[in-house]
Amino acid sequence: MIDVHAHINLENFPLETNNAEKKKAFHDILSAAKSANISRIVSVSENIYDVQHIFDLAAQSDGLIKPAVGLHPVQRLDVNDTRERSVTLSDLEHFEPVLKEAIANKKICCVGEIGLDYSRHIVTTNQYNDGLSEDESRNEQRQVFRRQVELAMAADLPVNVHSRSAGHHALEILYECRATRVVMHAFDGRPAHAKKAVEAGYYFSVPPSIVRSPHFQKVVAALPLSSLLLESDSPALGPEKGVDNEPANITLAAQEIARIKDIQVEEVVKQTTANARTLFGPAI
Ligand SMILES: [Zn+2]
Repeated sequence: MIDVHAHINLENFPLETNNAEKKKAFHDILSAAKSANISRIVSVSENIYDVQHIFDLAAQSDGLIKPAVGLHPVQRLDVNDTRERSVTLSDLEHFEPVLKEAIANKKICCVGEIGLDYSRHIVTTNQYNDGLSEDESRNEQRQVFRRQVELAMAADLPVNVHSRSAGHHALEILYECRATRVVMHAFDGRPAHAKKAVEAGYYFSVPPSIVRSPHFQKVVAALPLSSLLLESDSPALGPEKGVDNEPANITLAAQEIARIKDIQVEEVVKQTTANARTLFGPAI
């Protein structure tokens, strides 16, 4: 199995188990992933602070982790302050050289996590948002997203896309850019929009939280198995709300897809792995 979207950095998965924070250790989640027959984990970055963590941990994973670099639409205030704000063009200015360097040196298997997040608390004008209005925040998000899609396309790399409360808007930008190598992760948009994207050749990755999400269950029912991928989004989107998630749990997503489509779980595993290889190519 291939986990096409996870956040394996030192903050989420420290090298040593930190019982005080009840976090799982990096090496524990890797051995659990191997036992679950996971052959690859795509580890995406979100901001300028976690890129190096992603590379460092991938280098210690025996080839299991494939790094990705991207600037997420939701940013933290600064390195030590995790309060959330909408990404700005000034963030992109600092981030673009990092992304270009990773692309030029062939360090990444895709560009991500990038996309749009129109959640109210992210785009609402507030003291953390450089005084931008909601419209301006959405507009800067779109520009940051589009620029990274263009860089990925110029390098013939896939994009790993976040679209919270903005599924349709993110897809529109991808169509305008004529993007072809796309995975929409944890898509919360309408199944009808997802179906149209499948016609454009886009893939949809399914997290373990599908076991408790009627929405993801509907999306999976609407789409063919040939367009589905497995993702953990660890440490988010686990089978149990509020409990840290890890790559090994993609087994639960595969089982749920098998249940919905009334097929054997082996078929889901085989097809989603083949789909991931088709999308990512030899980089994975
Ligand atoms: Zn993510």
